[in-house]
Amino acid sequence: MTTVRTRFAPSPTGFIHLGNIRSALYPWAFARHNKGTFVLRIEDTDLERSTPEAVQVILEGMEWLGLDYDEGPFYQMQRMDRYREVLAQLKTAGHVYPCYMSVEELDELREQQRARGEKPRYDGRWRPEPGKVLPEPPAGVQPVLRFKNPLSGSVVWEDAVKGRIEISNEELDDLVIARPDGTPTYNFCVVVDDIDMDITHVIRGDDHVNNTPRQINIFEALGKQPPVYAHLPTVLNDQGEKMSKRNGAMSVVQYREEGFLPEAVVNYLARLGWAHGDAEVFTREQFVAWFDLEHLGKSPAQHNPEKLLWLNNQYLKQADNERLAGLTDPFLQKAGVSVEGGPSLAGVVALFKDRANTIKDIAQSAEMFYRKPVPSEADLAQHMTDAARAAVKDLATALAALPEWKKEAISPAFKATLAQHGMKMPQLAMPVRLLVVGTTHTPAIDAVLELLGRDTVLTRLGA
Ligand code: GLU
Repeated sequence: MTTVRTRFAPSPTGFIHLGNIRSALYPWAFARHNKGTFVLRIEDTDLERSTPEAVQVILEGMEWLGLDYDEGPFYQMQRMDRYREVLAQLKTAGHVYPCYMSVEELDELREQQRARGEKPRYDGRWRPEPGKVLPEPPAGVQPVLRFKNPLSGSVVWEDAVKGRIEISNEELDDLVIARPDGTPTYNFCVVVDDIDMDITHVIRGDDHVNNTPRQINIFEALGKQPPVYAHLPTVLNDQGEKMSKRNGAMSVVQYREEGFLPEAVVNYLARLGWAHGDAEVFTREQFVAWFDLEHLGKSPAQHNPEKLLWLNNQYLKQADNERLAGLTDPFLQKAGVSVEGGPSLAGVVALFKDRANTIKDIAQSAEMFYRKPVPSEADLAQHMTDAARAAVKDLATALAALPEWKKEAISPAFKATLAQHGMKMPQLAMPVRLLVVGTTHTPAIDAVLELLGRDTVLTRLGA
């Protein structure tokens, strides 16, 4: 059996959203499932739109999500000699021919075809045929090279997602595979790469489905077996439009900046166009163990931001507190909050993670533990009654005397003070909250006090 070899072949043109990175996740998972090889190839031949920064964004996004590759990154711009070499082979074998048609002539041809209600296509006027007399090449014009597409028959492939696809060769004109300056064009480079990199399964977006019959014909001209193709339906945004930067899609790394965990994003993307029964929350290992091409969705998947938040919460709940503290700290720093001298951030995170959707949420809540409490006048007026003041004083005395600073001990001290003053819990907890952290919304008060530490609590209670 041949080893599975898949690839992710992004064009580094600046932006990589969830839909794009899904085209990395699935071939990665398929390679891992089959103990195969995952190749990264950067398709950077569009010199106007490709930038090194965009390559970095791709590498960073993949690293963040743990999509490790076994080979590459290969850069198409560094493989030009190889493409020229294969081009020369095709020339020798008579699969390509020079075409001297000017842009004006092409425009004119297209216009005529449109006027006749036909699909615009190259008419083969420079294609050599036995007995055909070709026009005289115009002086001083560098020709493009066109691929001699078969004139009859059809291209058929069994798409792993879409099923059998058959395209008649009559619908395909002779593709330009080298520009006048000799540089190869996109579809040709892809085929040379997929051959050289021994790709067995091409898993990519279905925006490439129109390229596939052309690519298969080039494979055949080169005497090679095309790979298995799996064309993934598009990812739509939550409005049902094709996901793109223009209509507000976020780049993958922005999800990190918004406080998502990579494992939540991987789990989310896994389900965005593939399913394993009704499993919604699963580990990376389970995903790899279960991933197959048979259960890829056939219709477009729709991005659901609410579901992603929900999943992130599921993962935050289970995540290690120390790890979350490490992830939360930069958010606090960005907000100008230092955890220096304050309670353990891991302890604080533990109080908030169950109800947080993102690390950003955790950081926002955690701030109260590290800022000087500044209760509002309105809150103080409402909760700091004379009765409350007296109870706070007694509570402080009781807390000062506790043999051990643990919430298990703090809680009974509260209860005793409440009983002593004939009060209900909120009547004491609210003023205490205001004094120790400045707000009335906090997790359980005994846990808050435990974390803040006895000295801080007593100072803030005015004891
Ligand atoms: N470079 C192409 C893109 O970014 C993908 C080509 C392929 O997967 O064959 O859309």
